[in-house]
Amino acid sequence: MLSIESIPAFEDNYIWLLLDGSGKTAVVDPGDAKAVERALDRRKLRLDCILNTHHHWDHTGGNAALKRRYGCAVIGPAADARRIPGMDTGVRENDMVSIGDAQARVIETPGHTTGHVCFWFEKDRALFCGDTLFSMGTGRLFEGTPEIMWASLRKIDALPDDAMIYCAHEYTEENGDFCMAVDPDNPDLKIRMDEVRKLRAAGKPTLPVHLGIEKKTNALLRATSPEAYGALRKRKDER
Ligand SMILES: [Zn+2]
Repeated sequence: MLSIESIPAFEDNYIWLLLDGSGKTAVVDPGDAKAVERALDRRKLRLDCILNTHHHWDHTGGNAALKRRYGCAVIGPAADARRIPGMDTGVRENDMVSIGDAQARVIETPGHTTGHVCFWFEKDRALFCGDTLFSMGTGRLFEGTPEIMWASLRKIDALPDDAMIYCAHEYTEENGDFCMAVDPDNPDLKIRMDEVRKLRAAGKPTLPVHLGIEKKTNALLRATSPEAYGALRKRKDER
């Protein structure tokens, strides 16, 4: 069984630390090497593998220093090979990635960037979705159209409700305020927002969260067409 912990970094990033049953370790999107090293030192662990969802610096900035110290493997989207520091293995749709006994399937989710991928650990019910899906939001369209992102979101929407999503940013409360503005009568959204406000007031992360909750509360994930998604995305960007 995979155990998963969050390492906070920068203003609002989460780097996810994965430990499989046999002692293998991985981090997802280590933007900050120092934060990862502190977390590993505290637990007397080394690092076997880096998984990158996309090339942005706040997700890959720690790659080089961590690889130097631990000699870890760097796995990321094949389409972003030249933009990811130290990448050893490029992955594509449906490729399998192993962290010891734990296995993830690669899901290509372009939109935020052209090469963005998610890692789906089906047995462990864990989805590392980088900057594609956030709780009650989605990533901005830096390198994609609403059509491309909407199609990527459909792939995530097809995963089971009991999947837990491990997003790369703590944007939940702000995202939820937007969802409340566009979907004010949604009872599930009100329940989730109450919970989120309590967690944030206590300084706690709002992630991970069940995908089933997102399917009921996330206005952008719930958009029923690329046009509807594009309109919501534009409205949110202009807020
Ligand atoms: Zn990004």
